[in-house]
Amino acid sequence: MLGYPDRMLNLENELKQIKNAGLYRKLVTMSSQSGPRMKIDNREVLMLSSNDYLGLCSHPRLKKQAQQALDKWGAGSGASRLISGNLAPFVELEHNLADFKQTEDALVFSTGYMANTGLLSALAGPTDVIFSDQLNHASIIDGCRLSRARIEVYSHRDVGVLESLLKKKGGPANRIIVTDGVFSMDGDIAPVPDLFELAQKYDAALVIDDAHSTGVLGKQGKGTLEYFNMCATPEITVMGTLGKALGCFGAFVAGSRNLKEFLINRSRSFIFTTALPASVVAAALEALEILEDEPQLRHNLHRNVSFMHQGLSRLGFETGSGRTHIVPLIIGAADTAVAMARHLLDEGLFIQAIRPPTVPEGSSRLRITVMATHTIEDLAKALDILSQAGKRFGII
Ligand SMILES: *Cc1c(COP(=O)(O)O)cnc(C)c1O
Repeated sequence: MLGYPDRMLNLENELKQIKNAGLYRKLVTMSSQSGPRMKIDNREVLMLSSNDYLGLCSHPRLKKQAQQALDKWGAGSGASRLISGNLAPFVELEHNLADFKQTEDALVFSTGYMANTGLLSALAGPTDVIFSDQLNHASIIDGCRLSRARIEVYSHRDVGVLESLLKKKGGPANRIIVTDGVFSMDGDIAPVPDLFELAQKYDAALVIDDAHSTGVLGKQGKGTLEYFNMCATPEITVMGTLGKALGCFGAFVAGSRNLKEFLINRSRSFIFTTALPASVVAAALEALEILEDEPQLRHNLHRNVSFMHQGLSRLGFETGSGRTHIVPLIIGAADTAVAMARHLLDEGLFIQAIRPPTVPEGSSRLRITVMATHTIEDLAKALDILSQAGKRFGII
């Protein structure tokens, strides 16, 4: 007997269509903690699809702080931030995040998805315009939609197109330009200095999503602005995540003090959700310390990134224009990407195939992410396997 949603939507048929299009997704169960080598069904694989860029998820100092906070503050926070869940470690974390991003203040959200949806829907309303890069993350797209603002999508990183859209006359609308700092599926970097210039020229706010840049880009790992030798200004709002390079969970928005107060009052994804557990907050505090104490992690990551990019281009792979820790191996057809990923897994490499709707039609890819904790031997082995697989599947 099929349940009501099943009959209503004919889920079986929907799933069949997804499968026929080569777009079926399923969960893989990992049986070890995050790291450069992980276990699937007790078989070790080399992990090349993790956002744990600095290896902090399993860093002993993070674990220790999380354990201590667990004992002191309990497993859960008990309520939303505005009710009674604003445990003291949040105050310290927001202070340190603001310090790290060199903004007046910062506000922690439960996830990056919620930070983007909560920020954009609070900042813009139906009479406003949001200018959004074509390849922005899904959470930005959903934030734009939730705001009910007019959305002007500009071609990827194309400041010329963006300017022509900004020039168009409109009503007395507020304007926001929003972009990923490092694009999550292509690994290229937004032209932030140009975007900032346009924002100034056309009186728009600039929002940068530093999910993949926080902890990685810039001399001290502060993110996209530091990478471009730019300073935070009140016109720039930076969102960042704690769940990627910082190895924890959660996210934040860094900007002016007024912005923080406004979001506390108006951001629905901040207001109507349970506060993060203190163990996560304490781990994030420690992660910020480690960024300062262990610059070697960042240096290792950059060394590994160069090694991987050089190796892949030597082999003749098409990897786009980015040169960061996110390396797309462009394959094209979704089913080829999936078949190649499956083959690589048999050979001991874990690399996820990324297909539409996450990336545009015809640009399915294997998305490689490099970690600081990979050894050069790990990566040389990966290149060797990729070289053979690339030839086998006619990619190189
Ligand atoms: C991962 C990611 C997010 C979402 O962050 P979560 O904390 O995982 O919800 C937002 N933006 C970009 C660009 C991301 O890559």
